[in-house]
Amino acid sequence: MTGIKMVDLHKQYLRIKPEIDQAIERVLTSTAFIHGPEVNEFASSLSKFLNVDHVIPCANGTDALQIAMMALDLQPGDEVVLPVHTYVATAEVIALLKLTPVFIDVDEDTFNIDINQIENKITRRTKAIVPVHLYGQCADMEPIMEIADKYGLFVIEDTAQALGAKYTFSDGTVENAGTIGTIGTTSFFPSKNLGCYGDGGAIMTNDPTLAEKIRMIANHGQRVKYHHDIIGVNSRLDTLQAVILNVKLKYLDEYEKKRNEVALYYDQHLPKSFLSLPYRAINTTHVFHQYTVKVVNRDRNEFQKYLTSKNIPSMIYYPVPLHLQKAYRREGFDEGSFPVTEKLSRTVISLPVHTEMEKEELDYICETISSF
Ligand SMILES: *Cc1c(COP(=O)(O)O)cnc(C)c1O
Repeated sequence: MTGIKMVDLHKQYLRIKPEIDQAIERVLTSTAFIHGPEVNEFASSLSKFLNVDHVIPCANGTDALQIAMMALDLQPGDEVVLPVHTYVATAEVIALLKLTPVFIDVDEDTFNIDINQIENKITRRTKAIVPVHLYGQCADMEPIMEIADKYGLFVIEDTAQALGAKYTFSDGTVENAGTIGTIGTTSFFPSKNLGCYGDGGAIMTNDPTLAEKIRMIANHGQRVKYHHDIIGVNSRLDTLQAVILNVKLKYLDEYEKKRNEVALYYDQHLPKSFLSLPYRAINTTHVFHQYTVKVVNRDRNEFQKYLTSKNIPSMIYYPVPLHLQKAYRREGFDEGSFPVTEKLSRTVISLPVHTEMEKEELDYICETISSF
């Protein structure tokens, strides 16, 4: 079998083509390519969807993190705690703003920040925790918020991989990923669960003062045009992306359902003899941005070669832990500093999961893997 894709954005587009084409056509006719009224329309739709007071669209998920940190007035040398098993963007903006990234190892089952290792890394300079909801499942937000309260820290949730995931607190309250901490950030990179047809991102908060500041920072630090009160950046979601997202947001629940069906199928049909399948934490839903398994007792790289030879695409998120990357390596960061993350970098592999997967494809993948 050929033609299996990690994500199939073309097939997904074909299903909603008339709506998307009309929306794009409207923008082409209006020519309001930047700051068109549809950008605010999308922000309101997303704020309703997430049940959060303020959504500020921006150019991408990396900018969203940067703007969030700028809005919190973090100063050079301030320490920001984050999981070491994450996409580089999370650490990159911290370093870019001359803050100090403080890496924490992750939980071997959930792949998310190990909440038991946070407290002993907190110092007088620690200002914020950045949990990442990796692969589509919420980090354990209740203890994270308790630690943040105890030490007076901000929490910035990197929700780029988990838009729509829901976290349940011990009192039964359910909240959306990205709306629990001080600020949430997300990305609309095409392959994300809610993806546009280019770059896009957004910042979420329930704090009206922060929302206002975030809006200014994303727009050159101005409230009134040509009056720059603070130093900002230029980070906009363009109108074409906003209309595309406005159409796709209506389907996000359906997309998530489809991803969960694929995951369930894998759960039931993949061999457990040499694969450790995704763990589902009880207090969070999973939106399966990735279906990531661990290869146990077998060589992960051999397994990937085998998949490639059978035309099954796969990805390794992430092959080199951040503390061993040239740009982030510091004194004391050696092989062995973050054993779980290092082990994951050798054992994880993500299989195709998207909204257009066919049963024949899943059957082929599961049967092929079973005969490895
Ligand atoms: C994709 C991603 C980002 C960055 O988003 P961009 O829109 O590509 O800048 C940040 N953090 C995580 C965890 C991501 O997966």
